[in-house]
Amino acid sequence: MKNKTLRLNNVSKEYIQSNLHTSIFKNISYSFESNKSYAIMGPSGVGKSTLLHLLAGIEKAGNGQIEIDDHIISQDNFEQRIALLHAHIGLVFQQPCLINELSVLENVILNSLANNRFNQTNYEQGKELLASIGLLEKLDSSVTSLSGGQQQRIAILRALFHKPSFILADEPTGSLDKNSADQIMKLLLDYKKKYAMGLIISTHDIDIAKQCDLILKIENQSLIQHTY
Ligand code: ADP
Repeated sequence: MKNKTLRLNNVSKEYIQSNLHTSIFKNISYSFESNKSYAIMGPSGVGKSTLLHLLAGIEKAGNGQIEIDDHIISQDNFEQRIALLHAHIGLVFQQPCLINELSVLENVILNSLANNRFNQTNYEQGKELLASIGLLEKLDSSVTSLSGGQQQRIAILRALFHKPSFILADEPTGSLDKNSADQIMKLLLDYKKKYAMGLIISTHDIDIAKQCDLILKIENQSLIQHTY
């Protein structure tokens, strides 16, 4: 499969609240490749979530462009950005954010349900994914019956169900004990390899970050490649 590139091109971002301007990024450029894994580090409040939201097309950049291959996401309108998000990006958050009213399997295949693209194949693919994490027997259970680590694994399956080019994960292990955090990282890295997806995660944990191919730090409103 051809590599995709998710590119920040001279991007700046500031938030304005009550006339107070807070600059988060100044003229950052970086190319993320879909055959690599990246950890984004930096203290709380430095802009890690903002960076992931910019890359996902959820936040708009002040200046500069965000591109996937040759397509400029940041010039798209809201509907076009949502379509692109569906096609290319899978999102994972610190909390699993599952829908309690739906079963475990329905949460995994949520994207196809939401887009009216549900068919028997989706159902079988969802079951296959559940089997791959040893939770097939839970397919009809309520997600509330799962542990925190199990719920986060379901959130990861939901994010990768539509085979995106990139998974963006915002502190995906932040609420978990070490054992569950290690399982989540293993799952993300295994699927990254299996489906040839880029992986970009934010984390405070250097042991988690070191499992990625590259570590980037946000410092002084810039994105700096870290060597260790
Ligand atoms: P991190 O993920 O590194 O903790 P964030 O990206 O969440 O940092 O936030 C970076 C800074 O931007 C923080 O100071 C935060 O308060 C501010 N911020 C984030 N989102 C908004 C928003 N929608 N409006 C105003 N300020 C925001």
